[in-house]
Amino acid sequence: MKVALVTGGSRGIGKAIVKALSAEGFHVIINYRTQVQEAEQVLEELRQLGGSAELLPFDVSDMQACELALSHWKLQNPDRFIHTIVNNAGIRKDNLMVFMDSNDWNNVLNTNLNSFYYITKPLLQDMIINKGGRVINVVSLSGIKGMPGQTNYSAAKGGVIAATKALAQEIGRKNVTVNAVAPGFISTDMTEDLDEKEYKRLIPMNRFGRPEEVAEVVRFLASDRASYITGEVISVNGGLYT
Ligand code: NDP
Repeated sequence: MKVALVTGGSRGIGKAIVKALSAEGFHVIINYRTQVQEAEQVLEELRQLGGSAELLPFDVSDMQACELALSHWKLQNPDRFIHTIVNNAGIRKDNLMVFMDSNDWNNVLNTNLNSFYYITKPLLQDMIINKGGRVINVVSLSGIKGMPGQTNYSAAKGGVIAATKALAQEIGRKNVTVNAVAPGFISTDMTEDLDEKEYKRLIPMNRFGRPEEVAEVVRFLASDRASYITGEVISVNGGLYT
């Protein structure tokens, strides 16, 4: 069974990705930070469906916490390696740049951008040795076009998009693909403060997306069916561009 790590797999888009990868036949490592009950519920749901999964809580914005958790997992699983990483955990702290304090800038950059390095770097070598792997980054429309009120979030997601393209070129010959999925507005806890009635007028498909609609693309990218796709950013946004 191939192993996939999904960061922020306890809620929203991450939870849907965990379920989709389990259905694809992966053993799934479900990462989360604080909400134990939500994570345990996802684990229980998966096991009832016959899936194989485990929880691995750590804070993706903390380099030492990432190193500790991942090296501990490797020690416990000397015969396995993480074939697919889904860098999904993310936060928003929106404000106009003139009012944005440095905590909100740094937290968003650490959680959405630096986590990509903290998690991907220590796991890459195993993918290279095993001649196969997938890195899938959940980014955002905000990182493609830039959104007012989100200079921190747009910078972080835009940074991950650029890193996706660069890393794809570094390790393509090792049969490791690196891609990004860019959702638009998706109904999760992250967007519960947004009035769907107001925003959906901007979206050609006239509705917010569902987490499962993003997860399906991640499932495809993680599968053998996507063996020749790398360095791409695939939008899942109901036709919403600029
Ligand atoms: P949610 O807020 O619904 O869920 C966030 C998940 O990330 C939770 O599982 C949470 O765990 C986890 N998480 C947050 N911070 C950390 C951390 N420091 N360490 C570990 N886990 C953490 O978010 P969504 O499902 O909406 O978003 C998922 C991804 O999709 C994010 O990267 C987001 O930026 C991106 N995205 C979302 C869009 C949307 O419209 N919803 C649009 C575009 C992109 P816990 O509960 O334990 O805190």
